[in-house]
Amino acid sequence: MHMLRLVVVYGLGFAACSTARNIVNLQPDHQGTRLLPLTNANSSAPVLVERGVSARCGSEFGRCAPGKCCSTAGYCGDTKSHCSSPDCQIDYGHCDAHITPGGPPTDKIPRPLIGNVPYGPRFIRSCTVPGTIALTFDDGPKEYTQDLLDLLDKYEAKVTFFVTGNNNAKGEIDSPGMPWASLIQRMHRSGHQVASHTWSHQDLSKVTQSQRRVQLLWNEVALRNILGTIPTYMRPPYSSCTAESGCLNDLGALGYHVILYDIDTEDYSHDSPEAIQKSKDIFDRNLDSRIEFDRPWLAIAHDVHEQTVHNLTEHMLKKLLAEGYRAVTVGECLGDPPELWYRKDDNFDERNARKSNRSKDSVTKAISVDGMCGTQTTCLGSRFGPCCSSTGFCGNMSSFCGAGCQSDSGYCGDNIGAAYTGSGKKAAKSDAGSLLQLSPSVAVVILLALMVLME
Ligand SMILES: [Zn+2]
Repeated sequence: MHMLRLVVVYGLGFAACSTARNIVNLQPDHQGTRLLPLTNANSSAPVLVERGVSARCGSEFGRCAPGKCCSTAGYCGDTKSHCSSPDCQIDYGHCDAHITPGGPPTDKIPRPLIGNVPYGPRFIRSCTVPGTIALTFDDGPKEYTQDLLDLLDKYEAKVTFFVTGNNNAKGEIDSPGMPWASLIQRMHRSGHQVASHTWSHQDLSKVTQSQRRVQLLWNEVALRNILGTIPTYMRPPYSSCTAESGCLNDLGALGYHVILYDIDTEDYSHDSPEAIQKSKDIFDRNLDSRIEFDRPWLAIAHDVHEQTVHNLTEHMLKKLLAEGYRAVTVGECLGDPPELWYRKDDNFDERNARKSNRSKDSVTKAISVDGMCGTQTTCLGSRFGPCCSSTGFCGNMSSFCGAGCQSDSGYCGDNIGAAYTGSGKKAAKSDAGSLLQLSPSVAVVILLALMVLME
């Protein structure tokens, strides 16, 4: 629906015939359709009245008492259902979205509009580089994101993550003790593109201009705390950003590329082992419908859904590879060089940031293609692991990332994967994954050593 408004306002020139079906059939974002169980809550009225949940809020009733949150159904309360974004009504009470990320603001960062990719108020629906497909994942990181990163490593695929700062009760992405920051750092290290999906997933066409700026600026603060940089790419929640509301101009003024899509996998509607086949069919049908062999695509999915991560994505990767495509970031599918995907905050003291301790110099080195690292090459972004060992090999075990690790040629530190505070099963999986990422040269050395020992 929102997309329809965008299209009407902003020109039919963007809508190639192959994308028109997606425009008309665009479904509401999954988050917008999620209903809170508040109507059911009335059945246990005594308890709820005791806790003051029956107080009403919203445009007809006004604000909740201080400290109380206004649910999407218009009830005051302080449960996760009341307070978590995007359903919590930010104008009528407290919401988790009101929790401000720490650190200095980002609004003074210079935002020159450089490069050939259009910025707002124009928006981008399709890729331009032939033979590329940009898979994109919105709303995360969440509990399945680590598995998705493992899968993408296996296929050596690069994708784009449109990250939300604090939605679905996951807490702020830069919270200490939460796994989100280390997952976002891993995305970045692995060569994926990290882009913004706003702080708390509000509908940017329905909030005020200052609220809209907060939605972008607060997510920038959190991402800057994690990565040291802020993104230049964003996707509006619900694909809603009309010209009438001023949204597209505001995003342009903040120096953002506004990214939509031309394949909607509709994964948010198909999150069961049976139903996800419909999303696979949508993806396949689009690719099969192309007239030009190397017509590029920009597809949307959501890494907050289990079937998307554990089922649909591998199908999409196999399909696109079979059709001769490359899985790349949005920036790459638009021909935009990586240095333009982010803006640096030159005034930010990185020592205060919750960040990886990668060297500034290492990002300018070539990424290792043979598992070796040193003065000319870095392990950051390589498929062998992000750390450069004392002997000049890339890997991601403690023997690479710990004592003797070369911080000017990769990442050093002991928190790879360990920062993930999920279940023990996840941690075990992470460790197993790291074994597979030994560089071939090191694997041979270890094998030889083992053979000697056995003799
Ligand atoms: Zn979203």
